[in-house]
Amino acid sequence: MGRRATLGRGEAWLEFSLRAVVVVAVLASILSARQGSAQAREAVLNLYSARHYQTDEALYANFTKQTGVKINRIELNDDALLQRLKSEGANSPADVVLLVDAARLWRAQQDGLFQPIQSKVLNERIPANLRADDGSWYGFSTRARVIVYDKAKLKPEDVDTYEKLADPKLKGMVCTRSGSHPYMLSLIAAMIERNGEAATEKWARGVVANMARDPKGGDTDQIRAVAAGECAVALTNSYYWVRLLRSADPKDKEVVAKVGYLWPNQATSGTHINVSGGAVARHAPNRDHAIRFLEYLASPEAQAYFANGNNEWPVVKGVNLDNPALAALGSFKAETVPVSAIGRSTAAAQRLLDRVGYR
Ligand code: FE
Repeated sequence: MGRRATLGRGEAWLEFSLRAVVVVAVLASILSARQGSAQAREAVLNLYSARHYQTDEALYANFTKQTGVKINRIELNDDALLQRLKSEGANSPADVVLLVDAARLWRAQQDGLFQPIQSKVLNERIPANLRADDGSWYGFSTRARVIVYDKAKLKPEDVDTYEKLADPKLKGMVCTRSGSHPYMLSLIAAMIERNGEAATEKWARGVVANMARDPKGGDTDQIRAVAAGECAVALTNSYYWVRLLRSADPKDKEVVAKVGYLWPNQATSGTHINVSGGAVARHAPNRDHAIRFLEYLASPEAQAYFANGNNEWPVVKGVNLDNPALAALGSFKAETVPVSAIGRSTAAAQRLLDRVGYR
């Protein structure tokens, strides 16, 4: 006879209840372990981005597919984004920050909004002149600041350097956006690095004397002003020109037909380049994912999406872009001033512009 037979009814019921409690407890612990690992699988990355391009959807989706890390994205323009980071302070959920222009990246670094990281992958893949010296931020695509001119009024050799924009022969012919815009500040800061402050101030004075109108509008407005005959020469970032090249709008086609495009300073210092870049936020709650994301952005596949999204060039060599309009522009000699040095000279650039009245 088994032991059970010796138990009374009440005792048997008690034993059953105890077993049930144990089973329930075991099941509960299995369930909670599963939930725990489900939460671990729901890894997230909070991305603050000043980019807003359609191809970025694929860029982020591929990262999530590869790593299981979900991306929560906040898209704002650069200034609003930096303002938000500042006001959130130590409570900011931001893990990664994406910005355009070296001057802005440098400013954010100075304002303590980033944290330096060490990454062998990033240091190997991204050229040293396209990132901060201390790992505070990294360039992921480049854009060139180029010269556009009215083909009916000027020959390429009249305007094939930045320096020539100050030539008195161009009096009343130059259109420009505000000197205080980061794209201009970066260009002028790079000139200070190359030519020194005195020579750059003299140049800026010459450009002011040549202006066809007070500085206004964005880069595309400068290209349109050249086509409209308001001025004969202007500066623009390369991707605004490529956008017009790719446009099916007859008005844009007219603009492209009238306007010439050239790479400045090919016989001397090379064309000024700038970057779109990224950094790990100072108070990143998900620091490991943030580094992983930046390393992902330096992978060949991500580089193609990142650069193509805004008709820019990848920073990693040998990446194939399926972008015929960009390819049609051909290759050029780029300036070698490190983008980190550009940031350093932007304050001097602004003071110099104030002195010469380049608003
Ligand atoms: Fe832009």
